[in-house]
Amino acid sequence: MKRREFIKSAGVAGLATAAAASSFPKPALSQGRKQLKMVTTWPKNFPGLGTTAQRLADRITTMSDGSLSVKVFSAGELVPPFESFDAVSSGTGDIYHAAEYYWQGKSKAFNFYAAVPFGLTATEQSAWINHGGGQQLWDEVGKKFGVKPFMAGNTGVQMGGWFNKEVNSLEDYKGLKIRMPGLGGEVLRRIGAAAVSLPGGEIFPALQSGAIDATEWVGPWNDLAFGFYKVTKYYYYPGFHEPGTTLSSAVNLKVWEGLSSSHKAIVSSAMSAENDVALAEFNAKNNGALNTLVNKHKVKVRKFSDEVMNAIGKRAGEVVAEAGASDALTGKVYDSFLKFRKNAIGWSKLSDQAYWDARLLPFKYGK
Ligand code: CA
Repeated sequence: MKRREFIKSAGVAGLATAAAASSFPKPALSQGRKQLKMVTTWPKNFPGLGTTAQRLADRITTMSDGSLSVKVFSAGELVPPFESFDAVSSGTGDIYHAAEYYWQGKSKAFNFYAAVPFGLTATEQSAWINHGGGQQLWDEVGKKFGVKPFMAGNTGVQMGGWFNKEVNSLEDYKGLKIRMPGLGGEVLRRIGAAAVSLPGGEIFPALQSGAIDATEWVGPWNDLAFGFYKVTKYYYYPGFHEPGTTLSSAVNLKVWEGLSSSHKAIVSSAMSAENDVALAEFNAKNNGALNTLVNKHKVKVRKFSDEVMNAIGKRAGEVVAEAGASDALTGKVYDSFLKFRKNAIGWSKLSDQAYWDARLLPFKYGK
C-alpha cells in the first residue's frame, strides 16, 4: 500500500497535519526506493541476449513492486558495449548484463565464468558455480573490481561458426580472419588464424565488407536473427569454444552492499530465474531456427574434421592452462574448475552422454 493511500484509508487524510503524518511509521517500500541503470553489451532487445537483459530488469522491478526498478540501456546507449564493465565498476552504471569473457583483459579468471574451450556444459557450469565453489571464487574476482557477479542466462552449446569456405584442414585456418572472443579466439590464433573480438552489432557489416572471413556468434536462433546466412553459407559444429556460455550480470559492489536484504534476495532470485528461462528459450528456439537456415536459406551444415578438432583441442589445453597460470587468484579458479570438470566428465559419461547415445538407437515411440 502506498503511503498516501495508507493515510487515506486510515481516514485521517483531511485532518493529517505534518506532525501527525510524521508519527506514522514509513511504509518499508518508500524507504528504500531505488532506480538502477543496467548497461549491456547487446543490441536492444536482441533475441535471447537483449531480451534476457530486459526480462531480468523487468523481473527485478516487478518482484520488488517497483521499489527497486531497473532501466536497461542497450549497447552504446549509455556506454559502448565493451565499456559496460568499467561503467559498473566505476559506478557510472549500477548493473551490467554481458558475458564475462569480454573482460579477460582485466583478469583471465573471467573466462571461466563465460566459456572455456572444451569446458563445462550449461548444467555443469551451473553445478560448479552454485555447488562446486565457483561462485565464492567469482565473488573474490569481482571484489577486486568493485562488482558482485551472478549467472543470468545461458546459451547452451553454441555452433562452431560461419565460414565463407570449407575449413577441412589446418591449412584452411592460416590467415583466416575470424571473429571469436575469449580463449577460443586465442586457440585459433595458435593454429594460424587472425582472431578478433567484435561486439555483436558489428559482426554482420564486418562479414559483409570482407573485413572478416568467418565468425562465430551463438547458435541457430541468434545467428538467423543477425542474417549471417546472407553472406556466408558454411555453418560448422560443434561449438568447442563455447560449450555452455554463461551470461552474467554484475552489480556495483557499493550498490549491492547498500541494498536491503529483501532487495538482495529479489536480485539474486531474479538472476537465478533468468539463468533457467534463458537457457530453456535458447534450447526451444534453436531447433526451429536450424530448420529455417537449412531448408529455407540453404545453409550448408558441416562438422569440424577430426584433424581440426584434435589440433584445436591440443592448443586449447595449452591456452586454458596458461590462462590459469596468469595470476594467483585465476590459478585458484582454474584449479577449482579443473577438478570439477574431471568429476563432471566421469558422471556425464554415465548420464547425459550415455542417454543421448541410447536415444539415437533405431527405435521410436508408437508403431
Ligand atoms: Ca559465441
